Amino acid sequence: MQYRALGSTGLQVSSLSYGASPLGSVFRDIDKSQGIRTVHAALDGGINFIDVSPYYGLTKAETVLGQALKGVPRYKYLLATKVGRYGENEFDFSPQRVTRSLEESLARLGVDYVDIIQCHDIEFVPLDPIIHETLPALRQLQQAGKARFVGITAFPLRALRTVAEQASIDTILSYCNFSLNNTSLQDDIPFYQQHGVGIINASPLSMGLLTTRGAPPWHPADDQIKATCQQAVQFCQAQGVDIAQLALQFALSNPAIATTLVGTASPENIQKNLEWAAQPLDHSLFAQVQHILEPIHNHTWPTGLPHNS
Ligand code: NAD
Repeated sequence: MQYRALGSTGLQVSSLSYGASPLGSVFRDIDKSQGIRTVHAALDGGINFIDVSPYYGLTKAETVLGQALKGVPRYKYLLATKVGRYGENEFDFSPQRVTRSLEESLARLGVDYVDIIQCHDIEFVPLDPIIHETLPALRQLQQAGKARFVGITAFPLRALRTVAEQASIDTILSYCNFSLNNTSLQDDIPFYQQHGVGIINASPLSMGLLTTRGAPPWHPADDQIKATCQQAVQFCQAQGVDIAQLALQFALSNPAIATTLVGTASPENIQKNLEWAAQPLDHSLFAQVQHILEPIHNHTWPTGLPHNS
């Protein structure tokens, strides 16, 4: 496993990291004991960074993760959770709510502090209060020792950049923006590097688009994106390669991205992901898949308030 610096935080994070949203049965109903075994397999395999949120499974993911982490020495992992999103259309970034939210998360996770506390999906709300009210409240929680660093998460890169240009933040989490079908995060990497902001990349399998199982029914991509990704999936299958392998190796191949979060509640999948992370990208297959995905390259979908994307 490679470890990389997370911006200016001083943290060294594993290049492959663990996204705990599937522990909240976000993709499918999961077997809790399998989910717990998956977390242990991730840590045993050298993954040291875990991301979760109270939103995932409406607190279920944090609860299951807390059970998995029980008895694991705190120094063995870096933990990030989030505040502000509590349902599909339920957002509250007020200082009072985010302060209570972190306390509730710490209790569910069974820890005294998290390494990163992040504003979850900021594109859904006006950004001024995030800058002037929420982030200062999170800095106070940092002063109180409840979180070591402060970050923001979103899908539209513009929302992340707008806040990063006006406020001091330690990390950004961008998802589905650095994968085989969409590499738009690339353009913003120099800005974040210059400002010492750590880059967390999530969803290298494009939330299931780049898997043989395909995207879950709630996936926001349009039919052209879904169909073209399926063509790439089938092409890889015909070559005897799981597209998840190529997708993962591509995301990990960029050293400017500190870490890439992959979600799974399956011990077999995490094992595969760990093995793939240790192998190099097949550049010839990558070029062929890029050609298939060319018609939808960097195509996205609308999320959040229109002026934030
Ligand atoms: P992902 O791209 O990692 O895809 C997850 C899907 O891929 C799941 O269905 C999983 O079962 C499947 N999968 C994983 N490994 C596989 C393998 N080896 N073979 C086949 N299928 C495999 O998407 P994700 O889970 O949405 O993203 C990862 C994590 O990033 C999340 O769990 C979450 O922690 C974080 N994230 C955060 C935000 C945000 O803050 N707004 C948004 C998206 C993701």
